[in-house]
Amino acid sequence: MTTHASFSTKKVKLQAQKVAKSYGQTQVLADLDLDVYDGELLTLLGPSGSGKTTLLQIVCGLVEPTSGRLLIDGKDETWTPVHQRDIGVVFQNYALFPHLTVEENIAFPLRMRRLPGNEINRKVKQVLEMVELGHVATRLPRALSGGQQQRIALARCLVYQPSVILMDEPLGALDRQLRETMQMEIKRIHRESGATIIFVTHDQEEALALSDRICLMNEGKIAQIGSPQEIYERPQSTFVAEFIGLSNILDGQVHGDSLHTRHGIFPLMAGGQQAGNAALVIRPEHMRLGARGNGGLEGQVSESVYAGSETRVVVTLAGGEKFIVRSSAQTPLRIGDHVSLDWDVANSRLLAV
Ligand code: ADP
Repeated sequence: MTTHASFSTKKVKLQAQKVAKSYGQTQVLADLDLDVYDGELLTLLGPSGSGKTTLLQIVCGLVEPTSGRLLIDGKDETWTPVHQRDIGVVFQNYALFPHLTVEENIAFPLRMRRLPGNEINRKVKQVLEMVELGHVATRLPRALSGGQQQRIALARCLVYQPSVILMDEPLGALDRQLRETMQMEIKRIHRESGATIIFVTHDQEEALALSDRICLMNEGKIAQIGSPQEIYERPQSTFVAEFIGLSNILDGQVHGDSLHTRHGIFPLMAGGQQAGNAALVIRPEHMRLGARGNGGLEGQVSESVYAGSETRVVVTLAGGEKFIVRSSAQTPLRIGDHVSLDWDVANSRLLAV
């Protein structure tokens, strides 16, 4: 995994300790503990209403926690007012000053801090190069594209080197292609600047593409935190498996080294399985399609979607459960075809439910 050099030292930049937030009877965040490392790009990912924005607002000081503490560089900042926190924020709607040029927009936070003019010029030039906008420095923001405006907003944040940069769905307003280009841009800028970034998104593909670590939230708690690979390959709950990527889930009961399901008995990895209800998770790329009677799960093709390099096939079992398979087979399957599904036991993951 590639991470910024300073990330490997694992110095904690920001720490949430038992942070909780309630509005009346509704608990939005529940005793949340989170360490953000110096120089990492951490995404807060989760469904709508899981508490991502609330956590971000507590970090930047717009919302007070009901209990808990927030430390930045080891210093308690729980009650520090917004304008005294060394935190930069990039919003979805850019919030650029329309009457200032690109370079004036970027210089603004340095002027507020009363830096000498030559230092302002040097820093603005350096950041403009980083976001590759030197050629439009003297234009007004409205003359630029959405992606360029987003980069100005990011540059305006990077230029004064805040301790932590918060980005709240910053690419939400961009179309898909521009979003993907900007994701790569943000990754590069993050690498070059060494900034600590907390990035909020509800888009799991964006989180997988961008993050050093993903903090996946559900109902005000952290469902799992780890590298994109860890979260994708070793989900710790069916919520995580279903939220990140496509998952096939087979419910059953563990007896010894096998899973007893309504569709038959399937082997598990040998040893140490807890008896009781469990779910077996198999990613679509690990499912194999075969002819009926090959063993495995029996079902019928109910959907077949051509997606360029592969075809996504949906197989519906007798009980109505749908399984998704990525197939690169040359002969297309027809809706209604009877097929069987199997997988290598090493590519399946058993989760307690
Ligand atoms: P997310 O960013 O993950 O979508 P939010 O942090 O915005 O989630 O919201 C989490 C929950 O907190 C939601 O159920 C929302 O309705 C509730 N909530 C957020 N702000 C307030 C508020 N000011 N008053 C009451 N409830 C709120």
